[in-house]
Order: sequence, then C-alpha cells, then structure tokens
Amino acid sequence: MYNFLIVGSGLYGAVMAQQMHAAGKKVLVIDKRPNIAGNVYTENVEGIHVHKYGAHIFHTNNKKVWDYLQAFTVFNRFTNSPVANYKGELYSLPFNMYTFNKMWGVVTPEEAAAKIAEQRKEITGVPRNLEEQAISLVGRDIFEKLIKGYTEKQWGRDCKDLPAFIIRRLPVRYTFDNNYFNALYQGIPVGGYTKMVAKMLEGVEVRLNEDYLADKAKWDALAEKIIYTGPIDAYFHYKLGYLEYRSVRFETELLDMPNYQGNAAVNYTDRETPWTRIIEHKWFEFGKDEAGNDLPKTVISREYSSEWKPGDEPYYPVNDERNSALYASYKALADKEDNVIFGGRLGEYKYYDMDQVIAAALERVEGLG
Ligand code: UDP
Repeated sequence: MYNFLIVGSGLYGAVMAQQMHAAGKKVLVIDKRPNIAGNVYTENVEGIHVHKYGAHIFHTNNKKVWDYLQAFTVFNRFTNSPVANYKGELYSLPFNMYTFNKMWGVVTPEEAAAKIAEQRKEITGVPRNLEEQAISLVGRDIFEKLIKGYTEKQWGRDCKDLPAFIIRRLPVRYTFDNNYFNALYQGIPVGGYTKMVAKMLEGVEVRLNEDYLADKAKWDALAEKIIYTGPIDAYFHYKLGYLEYRSVRFETELLDMPNYQGNAAVNYTDRETPWTRIIEHKWFEFGKDEAGNDLPKTVISREYSSEWKPGDEPYYPVNDERNSALYASYKALADKEDNVIFGGRLGEYKYYDMDQVIAAALERVEGLG
C-alpha cells in the first residue's frame, strides 16, 4: 500500500512526490505520457533542449520557491525579451521605451507618457475587459498592432470577451528594460527541465504510460491518498459540462543553419499570420551545447493556438465568467472527495505560472503535516 498515488509528473506532482518521499512516505507517481515532467518536458535534439510543450521560462519573486529548486538544478542567466513582429515591423517587448520610440518616435519617458495619456482618454471608468484594460495601459496604437491580433489568435475570442487580468501579466515600463518579467529571479535549468524533474523524482517509483482515469478503481486501491493533477472536469467525467481550454499545436523543424531569428521568441502580432509565435530553442541556452560549443543547427517551433476539444492536450484554462462558475461547481464536488487532492494548472483550473504551481504544492504539503 502506498501512502500517496500521484497522478501526473508535471511540476505539481513532482514537488509533491519529492516532498512526500523526503518525509519518508511511500509514493507512486503515474503519468499517461511516455515521459516525466508534464508540460515542462524538454527533449534533446542535436544538443538543443527543445521545449516540447511550449516555451517555459522560469521566473519568480518567491525566494522560497527559488531556493527550493536550487537542490535540483542550476539556472542559467537567460532573461526573456521577446520581439514582436507586426507585418515585418519589429518591436521590443514588454512595452517599454524602445517600443514607444519605435511606435511614435518619442524619446523621453515624459513624451511617451503624454502619448499614452492622450490615447487612453477613450476609456472612462474601470476597464471591463482585456481591450479596455490594454488601451488604458498603453493606448490604442499599441493595442491595435501588438495586442489585438495576437490575443485573438491565442484565445480565439474577441478582446472584449476576455478578462482584463490576462494583459496585466505584461509589464509596462517607462524605461529601456526589455526584461519581459518583473521577477527577482529568472533562468532556464541548465541541462533542461526534464533533468531537473528527474532529479526531483530521484528515489521515487514512477510508472509511465499509465492512464489513471481509464482504470481508476484499480489505482485508487493502491494508495491511501491520491494527488490528482489532471483536468478537474475529466476526473468527474465532464458530468457538469466541459470546462474550456485553449490547446496549442507545435510545428517543429530542425534547420541546417546556425541562426534563424536571432532570439528565443518572436511573437507574430498581426491577425493574418496563422501562428502566434516562433520559438528558437537554442537561444534559451545562448546557442551553445552543454560543453559550451556553438551549435551548428537550430530547432524552431511555430505555435498554433486552437480551441481544446476532447482528445487534445489542454494548455490554458479560459478563466472567463462562464468557466469560472463551472469550475466553482466542480470544485464543490472535488471538496467532497475525501482522499483526493486536486492540484496544478489543470487540477485547479488556474492560469498558474511554474513558480505559482510550485508554491501551491509546497503550501499544500505543509497542510498535510
Ligand atoms: N500578449 C499580447 N501580445 C504579445 C504577447 C502577449 O497581446 O506580443 C498578451 C496576450 O493577450 C497574451 C497575454 O498577453 O494572452 C499574456 O501573454 P504571456 O506571454 O504571459 O502568455 P504565455 O507566455 O503564458 O502564453
């Protein structure tokens, strides 16, 4: 008999497993994929750590989380500074003095602030949706060129129908700082995320290619407590209806050239280009292999966003009103499952960043005593 069966070996599951194992509990981790690490899984292609389920750039202000991870990896000095490509015009992200200069020719922070103040006048009152929030933060020009097309592609919804908080993830700065995140700590695990997660799971029994929901009773019989990190609505067989997710499809290519786009991430912010962004994975590690040699080839991934349907991988919860209400109903059911803990982006239906997932898992562990 195991003390804990952990369903899913992504970050939530891995932290739980590591903590419980360290506390002397008997733990079994299962995952329906052939590999550990959930969506942070990285795969080595010609010396490049390819982020198989989308780019993951670790960043946090939470010192406890940062310190915790140091036992399992070394982080490099990568700082995310994506470039926006709007019909061939390139802009710096996040929105900062370089962006404002390119957009309007303004040179000083005061000039930029005046331009934005003029453009935000069209929004009166508290912004009620993503469009109003964006215009009130950076004005209509930036909204039209750098936000509207990208957001509508990513979410498949009009900016007026999306919650304002999504755009507040991005900093707006009146300085020449291209760091996409407001975080004290940032970096990519040297050797890839898979290596980091493998280290977290050291000593823990892991079984891959095992689908919990396909044989739930069998698995439940093996452990005193279940930690479930899959989609909460799937756990309940969608009996209250489907929660909406966005899914992502990647078109990945190995190219026989050393440098395709000169940056890890280029966002295509117009509406017409079908992909949202292109990731060139080698730049997460400065174009070098683990021995420090320049890599002669490169791997790129074009990212296409789509509405999730059964059978697809869910990536992003759509935290609008309808889904939030439906989630609350599922959560009420989940609270009645005495021996099951629901956790992570899918288990809690939250647009969590990696550090928030880890923080949530560490907190939950404390609650378990
Ligand atoms: N966003 C945008 N233009 C960009 C990048 C982001 O309008 O070039 C908006 C978009 O609405 C997106 C949100 O900012 O959904 C959050 O972007 P983030 O990069 O945090 O998303 P993630 O990396 O989680 O996909």
